[in-house]
Amino acid sequence: MGVRCRVFGNRIAGMEERESLALLLDRVPYRDRDLILTLLTRDAGVVQAIARGARGSTRRYAGALDLFVVLAARWRQGASSLATLAGADVVRQFPGVFESLERLEAGQAMLVLARDLAREAPAGETMYVHLVAAFDALDAVPPSQAFGGVLSLAVRMLEELGHVVVGDACPRCQGPLGGPGTVLASDGTVVCRQCSRFVTGVLADLLVLPPELRPAPSRDQAVALVGALLSGALGRPYRLRLGESGESSGTA
Ligand SMILES: [Zn+2]
Repeated sequence: MGVRCRVFGNRIAGMEERESLALLLDRVPYRDRDLILTLLTRDAGVVQAIARGARGSTRRYAGALDLFVVLAARWRQGASSLATLAGADVVRQFPGVFESLERLEAGQAMLVLARDLAREAPAGETMYVHLVAAFDALDAVPPSQAFGGVLSLAVRMLEELGHVVVGDACPRCQGPLGGPGTVLASDGTVVCRQCSRFVTGVLADLLVLPPELRPAPSRDQAVALVGALLSGALGRPYRLRLGESGESSGTA
């Protein structure tokens, strides 16, 4: 696939300007007027960048540094790991996310999940693509089903990292999966009812039923299942922490 970052000709003291589509995973206030951004870029993985003067100036970035926005980001990567944001423009917004508390909370959970998984493995283009697709679905989902998107995103991202969670057959006995009572084993894989009596796990019906038959998980069910999936895949206890997705969800 190759590196698709454009490198511009004018290099200033070894600083190359790069650009990519990106989503903001996190932003933290810094000094009086700056923000430290965590960007999930399409072409360059996760980029930490300082946006100078981004606070208190609504004009400079014009909403491009809000959460739930696809932005065209330009940055200069110097010797330090912290890049300097050179520009950001709004490419796409997901206004429906802000129309219900459930969608907003599910969206914030998606950001936390992406941030946590990006720490485990280098983020590639597919991680960006999965998150954009998740926001796209979230933008119009019935609010009561918003947390189903968090669960789906966790499964897709884990598969991207090489942890296939839900196949067609039980990985232990090769029996078909799909019936009620299916169990999520402690290693993060989904196993069938025949095996389940030997396994300590949680019910995984929300993962294996066909999408049209799947009941929408409640917030608590989704958080519990995501926690169990990631704990198994990562090999250590994991809990999806809600309410920790950056300094705010509104405007910068
Ligand atoms: Zn089995």
